[in-house]
Amino acid sequence: MTGKIEMKGAIAELDGDEMTRVLWQAVKDALIAPFVSLKTEYYDLALARRDDSDDAVTREAAAAIRRLGVGVKCATITSTAARAKEYGLKRLTPSPNAIIRSELDGTVFRKPILARNIRGTVRCWEKPIVLGRHAYGDVYKNAEIAVPGAGKAELVFTAADGAVTRRTVAEFRGAGVVQGIHNTDESIESFARCCFRYALSEGIDVWFGAKDTISKIYDGRFRSIFERVFGAEYRARFEAAGICYSYTLIDDAVARIMQSKGGVLWACKNYDGDVMSDMLASASGSLAMMTSVLVSPGGAFEYEAAHGTVQKHYYRYLKGEKTSTNPVALIFAWTGALAKRGELDGTPELCAFARKLERATLDAIEGGDMTADLARIAEPVASAALDSWQFIGRIAERL
Ligand code: NAP
Ligand code: MG
Repeated sequence: MTGKIEMKGAIAELDGDEMTRVLWQAVKDALIAPFVSLKTEYYDLALARRDDSDDAVTREAAAAIRRLGVGVKCATITSTAARAKEYGLKRLTPSPNAIIRSELDGTVFRKPILARNIRGTVRCWEKPIVLGRHAYGDVYKNAEIAVPGAGKAELVFTAADGAVTRRTVAEFRGAGVVQGIHNTDESIESFARCCFRYALSEGIDVWFGAKDTISKIYDGRFRSIFERVFGAEYRARFEAAGICYSYTLIDDAVARIMQSKGGVLWACKNYDGDVMSDMLASASGSLAMMTSVLVSPGGAFEYEAAHGTVQKHYYRYLKGEKTSTNPVALIFAWTGALAKRGELDGTPELCAFARKLERATLDAIEGGDMTADLARIAEPVASAALDSWQFIGRIAERL
């Protein structure tokens, strides 16, 4: 007996890049490994590993999340021309999150982590706004062409029986760009169900916004599928729970969100969700105070921080500086995964540990121990900002 909490099932652990990779290890070492006999299947998604394996490691990791039912992921670099040069890459690889999301399908739910002494910038928000982002298709699975010069761009669909449908996209008189995007009824339906189910479990309203006035067929399909799934499967349960579903144009949804009290699930198409979740996170205090979980229709859960690899801090870390990077969203990614594992395996002590670690983290912040991003906006103002390692140490003391 180690005295540590034993795990039944394993978690797929996806390591990542830069500052978040450094903190990933620090969080595990100080806050998890001393208390839990960690059982994980480890996949190294560092940029070089992904490049070496032509993304096989990312696909294997996605398959492991599907198989095990629970995954936890560190932030990863999405390759760009600048990164390809910095890391000497063979080629530009697609975003690992896009690969995982298209393997698992589903919806990403992002929810701010609230501490009593951290005030967001939007004064009317009293309760958290949860953002449900569709995780499949649209521009994240597009086909693009750089149009070199004059010519005609067409959209062509060839049915399985050979029947062809064509639309002219544009008659180009000079160079330009064109892209094709898609989605499927199956994925949109599961997006709608994930959102309705989540809202029922939290007892909150659902707002869905799209642009069906302009995109009558594409966004119109999203709107009609949401209405159909809601009417057929959820209306009665929503009424019983005293919650509502409403559709509105995306621009109207944005305007209303800014004047709401919060406490709603805001369902967004893939791109809208990408953009709006950063807006919500930064308005709620800090990018590092946002949790993110991908819920797949097959019943798999992948937890991560909503922010990136915090590149600027990493370069300072490489110069020997102890940075004040906030590890809270990484900690909550781990607690989310451990609690879900505990729930699926029937090991309540694992769930209880996860909740204790979350409480210790919030107690640290509410007791005045915090990193610089929070110290700037805390009320009362924090006397000093801790570096990441000091902050993790203060949480460990409370645990
Ligand atoms: P970022 O890592 O989210 O950081 C942007 C800025 O936000 C930071 O410079 C920092 O501001 C602040 N910030 C974010 N997280 C913080 C934390 N934990 N503690 C304190 N401050 C924090 O975005 P980025 O710099 O644009 O992207 C870096 C890399 O991350 C890119 O290669 C991108 O591809 C990748 N990325 C990955 C994911 C993912 O894996 N889920 C998501 C987004 C981006 P200050 O500099 O002002 O302190
Ligand atoms: Mg984004």
